[in-house]
Amino acid sequence: METTKHKSRIEFDNNVLNYENQHLYLFESFSGLKIDHLVGYDAIVLEANDADFTRIILKKFRSHSNPEFYLKPIFLINYKSSGDPIIEHLHDGILVSFDQIPEKVNDIQELFVRSTHIDNSPSGSFEVLLMKKILNYMYTRELRSFKPYPNLNSAVGFTYPLLSINFEPFEETKVLEILDWAQKENLIWPDFYDRVYLCNSCGAGHLSYREICPSCDSANMKSEDLIHHFPCGNIGPISDFKNKVDSVLNCPKCNKALRHIGVDYDKPSIINHCLTCNEVFQDYIVKALCLQCKTDSDVQYLVSKNINVYRLTKKGRNAATSGIITSEYGGMEEVFGAVDHKTFNTMMHYEQERIKHNTSQNTTIAVLHIENIYDLLRKLGKSKEKAFITELVQLIRENITPADFINISNPSLILICMNDTVSTDALQLMQKVNDKIEEMVFNNFNKFQLVMHYKTAPLNTEGAFEKQLQELTKAVTEQHD
Ligand SMILES: [Zn+2]
Ligand SMILES: [Zn+2]
Ligand SMILES: [Zn+2]
Repeated sequence: METTKHKSRIEFDNNVLNYENQHLYLFESFSGLKIDHLVGYDAIVLEANDADFTRIILKKFRSHSNPEFYLKPIFLINYKSSGDPIIEHLHDGILVSFDQIPEKVNDIQELFVRSTHIDNSPSGSFEVLLMKKILNYMYTRELRSFKPYPNLNSAVGFTYPLLSINFEPFEETKVLEILDWAQKENLIWPDFYDRVYLCNSCGAGHLSYREICPSCDSANMKSEDLIHHFPCGNIGPISDFKNKVDSVLNCPKCNKALRHIGVDYDKPSIINHCLTCNEVFQDYIVKALCLQCKTDSDVQYLVSKNINVYRLTKKGRNAATSGIITSEYGGMEEVFGAVDHKTFNTMMHYEQERIKHNTSQNTTIAVLHIENIYDLLRKLGKSKEKAFITELVQLIRENITPADFINISNPSLILICMNDTVSTDALQLMQKVNDKIEEMVFNNFNKFQLVMHYKTAPLNTEGAFEKQLQELTKAVTEQHD
């Protein structure tokens, strides 16, 4: 390496860049597509000379459900502007050479410090989880708004990079749904930017507009000017006035040559001639063919949607550090075989009292965290979510005793109270439950692999149950292998 003031202090070995106490990883196109092993690095330097590769890797990081990945500082090197909004808006800076790494150390540390302010308590629905993740990212980067960018790869024609990377391009309409939801929850407020028209059957915005014959629906038609010859009053299509020899127009009725538009003749309108059914008509119909689902509909039936710039409200700005409290909490309460959160806590208090007076009794609480369940629920869709959760509860029920009880406060977090079970037995039971759930999902949902963590602990007889549960939950949700 050349010797410059800084370079002597940057060590480079096997894609690892060390500078002072910072460890960066140089991710190159031949580094493969896996990112799991990069969790421990302070930042990533991404070789960005290939736009597709850069987009794929950025998407992998930013769409990850673990903050260790989605909040990771990522710098691009060898980047030539591609105009791709996904790339342009999801990195933390551009490097021309490694010499600039020392200049970025402050940024890396600052991002890290801000990431420690974030509230990590798991709560709520898919929408809450996704929005929380995005607000966390915005908090660490001190961003205050979402802007839409025109993008050919988006099914609706516009992309909100931070949100959109969590979906496939054809799922872009779901991004608009999430934004509607966040607006309703008063996390963001809209500023009109543009309007799009979407297919009323699949929601896509890639539409082909055509002028159509009103009697046979064919787009094979010819439009021409209509001519009104003043001296004789004749009205007819311009082709009737033309000849094959020169450009002079002659009236087919009175044979006079037409002289000056506005003086002896006029073009009052346009006339259309269908070349398929021969119909002649003045007004055509405009139809839009959806290039995604092939539905052909009258433009009046398209769904019009505002594309807004969204700014964070005060609630939105505070959400990263204090969590999101939604107006529509729960939805998981009435799952068959499970009890709601309040009932669960009440029962735990009784259980605590019971074992306090009977020292031979053991009760274990178990917390099961399904880290990537929202990736699965997103594939299932809202309508099948409940049925799936119910099935999950039944599967757990089959492996515990009828006196035990279960609470699902959100789909990613399952709490189980195992009465008269010592912690070591409970751990074995949880292993079994874990394997069964994994197997059921793998077999029924196209080999989907759930990422699950669990912990068990003997129920404390001292102190508040809520506090113990909170600590156990924290330990499980922050456990990543
Ligand atoms: Zn026709
Ligand atoms: Zn005439
Ligand atoms: Zn469609």
